[in-house]
Amino acid sequence: MTMAANTRILLAARPDGPPRPSDFRIEDAPIPEPAEGQILLRVLYLSLDPYMRGRMSAAESYAAPVEIGAVMEGGTVARVEQSRHPGYAEGDIVLSHSGWQTYALSDGTGLRKLDPAAAPVSTALGVLGMPGFTAWAGLSIIGQPKPGETVAVAAASGAVGSVVGQIARIRGARTVGIAGGPEKCAWVRNELGFDAVVDHRASDFAGQLATACPDGIDVYFENVGGKVWDAVFPLLNNHARVPVCGLIASYNARPGDIEGPDRLPGLFRAILTRSLHIRGFIQTEFADRRAEFYREAADWIASGRLRYREDIVDGLANAPQAFIGLLEGRNFGKLLIRVSDENN
Ligand code: NAP
Repeated sequence: MTMAANTRILLAARPDGPPRPSDFRIEDAPIPEPAEGQILLRVLYLSLDPYMRGRMSAAESYAAPVEIGAVMEGGTVARVEQSRHPGYAEGDIVLSHSGWQTYALSDGTGLRKLDPAAAPVSTALGVLGMPGFTAWAGLSIIGQPKPGETVAVAAASGAVGSVVGQIARIRGARTVGIAGGPEKCAWVRNELGFDAVVDHRASDFAGQLATACPDGIDVYFENVGGKVWDAVFPLLNNHARVPVCGLIASYNARPGDIEGPDRLPGLFRAILTRSLHIRGFIQTEFADRRAEFYREAADWIASGRLRYREDIVDGLANAPQAFIGLLEGRNFGKLLIRVSDENN
């Protein structure tokens, strides 16, 4: 499929609280011409990820924000449409970071060629990509579950959480998922084989979680924070490990939104008296372990031990609404935008 223009979605305004459609602007620009040493990429899939909420904000973080008027950033799978680069031929499929647009130029920096015969190319943005690696690294390097231990994970039907629980199970742990709503809970329990699942929207969520974890929690993979953390915290066993991967419950919070008593002394007391190991991480710090992850994950997928679900939304124009929905739990599985048809 050849398009007449490069359609791009720009950051129009920094959100105050939850992002709104008016924080984004869609526009058409000319399709860029590759110079010598460059390739023209046509984006097939765009990954929508929670970290993008941070890039929309000017608040200090581990990465620079997207400028107002700039193309929203994002991981992509793309097809080489034209090549003036010796390392790439027309038709090659690559993992790139081309952002929320239909076409992009690249000089090859940071690209990874994908083999469409090895796995569906979209998986390079999910189970065999950044989210899958995040799960693998946080669990293997920080969580270190042992056979028989209880591993709990929040956002358990999502791109990261679904992989965390399945790897914990492969490593012999008892796995407890936390997810929003009966449909997601049923999928996590029945399709992914978690030992127990609790719905964080249930009125007696904390009680149900305690019942699901009769021996306490040895590893808690934190994706959410907020009331989910409040329910998990009393259940953490001595020497529990807590890879802090994400805090999506507070990504839309305005300064001053989070009220209540100062809970820091209680947290520090528990870290001291229960010897808790709470360790934040950004997946890039473990980049030298990626090859190990790819090998293990590809084997597990081939043997049916690692399953995944993709939530694919058609059309770049639908990216803002889909992204807004991600922050409200409306996605079910790894959220992707199909930007153009991979078969054309
Ligand atoms: P995801 O789980 O596919 O999608 C986000 C999910 O979060 C939603 O479907 C929803 O699931 C849950 N959620 C949203 N708002 C919530 C709220 N207020 N309270 C409770 N749950 C809420 O996303 P993902 O890509 O796998 O990311 C999961 C977490 O990992 C995020 O916090 C993300 O920032 C983090 N992450 C960190 C790194 C790193 O390097 N540290 C890398 C990748 C991702 P339910 O409907 O089940 O609640």
